[in-house]
Amino acid sequence: MSAPANRPDDAALAEFRHRVRAHIGYFAPPFAAREGRRAPENAEQEAELRRWFATLFEAGFVGGDWPVEYGGRADHHPLHDRIVSEELLRARAPRPVDQVNLAAHVLLQFGSEEQKAALLPPIRRSEHVWCQLLSEPNAGSDIAAVRCRGTRNDDGSWVLTGQKTWITDGHWADMGLALIRTDPSSTRHHGLSAFVVPLSAPGVEVRPIRTINEAIEVNEVFLDDVTIPADNLIGEPGQGWAIIMAGLDFERFGIGGNVILLELLIDDLVTVARHATLDGKPVFEHEDIRQTIAELAVEVEVAKAFIDDHVERMIFGADGVGDGSIAKLSFAETYHRVSAYGTELGAMVCTVGADDSVAQAKQRLRECWLWSRAYTVSGGSSEMMRNILAKRRLLLPSR
Ligand SMILES: Cc1cc2nc3c(=O)[nH]c(=O)nc-3n(C[C@H](O)[C@H](O)[C@H](O)COP(=O)(O)OP(=O)(O)OC[C@H]3O[C@@H](n4cnc5c(N)ncnc54)[C@H](O)[C@@H]3O)c2cc1C
Repeated sequence: MSAPANRPDDAALAEFRHRVRAHIGYFAPPFAAREGRRAPENAEQEAELRRWFATLFEAGFVGGDWPVEYGGRADHHPLHDRIVSEELLRARAPRPVDQVNLAAHVLLQFGSEEQKAALLPPIRRSEHVWCQLLSEPNAGSDIAAVRCRGTRNDDGSWVLTGQKTWITDGHWADMGLALIRTDPSSTRHHGLSAFVVPLSAPGVEVRPIRTINEAIEVNEVFLDDVTIPADNLIGEPGQGWAIIMAGLDFERFGIGGNVILLELLIDDLVTVARHATLDGKPVFEHEDIRQTIAELAVEVEVAKAFIDDHVERMIFGADGVGDGSIAKLSFAETYHRVSAYGTELGAMVCTVGADDSVAQAKQRLRECWLWSRAYTVSGGSSEMMRNILAKRRLLLPSR
């Protein structure tokens, strides 16, 4: 099979990577990204993050795949997105909010021309950060159980009522993409609609949830008779399920594609092991530890290889059923295993006298471990990913 005609050559990709690196060096905020602490902690950081994200859009490093009339790049190629993601992760630069990208793709695919014209430019300027208002206390894995309801007024406006939960970035987001039951007689995935909800609308209350690492990343969002104009409905009433599902595989790749984070975790694990002693001898002289680190490194290489392979196949239009679930599952489970082992090793060994880089590696491993269960649950839990693969890829009969 030959490469598509529009595939950039190696020199062009190397030049693109060089530009991304230079951009990060010049524009990235003066603080590093921390796992489980991605949301800004104060107004100054928020301003820095919004400025930084806007520069990425402006340079065409984010949103490059959008249609050109909405700011995308005429020469965009999927490998550009991989390069940007790799460079941001390796530089430990703050990553753009995933939900913003998801909302943008929903708007591009299902939004009216008026909605695109009104809502896409503020995303590129980073004036609007978006969140996803999908999960509810009794509708997580089983998202078709959504109970938040929307009632239409005579003038076409809608009144939304109910509770959403685990909403990433809800406390600083400007807009939400919400899944709401608009047909009260409907069940399951019928009768659901997708809406744009400004979080500043009267009746929206956001209550932050403090996570295990004492950070605020997720929130409860209460909708108490929130009135929104008719124009805020995306697509048709009842089309909500199809709209949200279209974004989900995208979200899973968004998570699973962060495989460079796994490489960084192995680097940290090796840094700790290199500078530590256990029972009076260097850690690397313990055969069981050497074996475990090597096994984890292999798992990381497998996760990376799957993503590279998927991107190659996608370029040729040959991505497989359930690829998003494989990507997410292998990333999330490997992330958990490496960070858990790294934290355990860091606690077991003696690193007295080692330099700051070892203390930093230990701290990062611990932060990642505390955050690791977020990855195995958010965007669909590992169990649900296995269910999807059993059903859709392996065609096993469902119970
Ligand atoms: C850090 C984080 C960020 C999130 N961000 C957002 C967000 O921005 N927007 C949003 O809408 N939601 C968000 N979520 C919610 C997330 O999508 C749900 O938590 C997830 O889908 C699981 O739903 P649940 O919490 O209700 O757990 P449940 O669905 O109650 O599941 C509990 C356990 O049972 C297992 N289980 C459930 N059903 C099955 C089954 N059929 N077979 C086998 N096992 C099963 C699950 O795997 C899980 O281990 C976030 C969650 C987290 C943790």
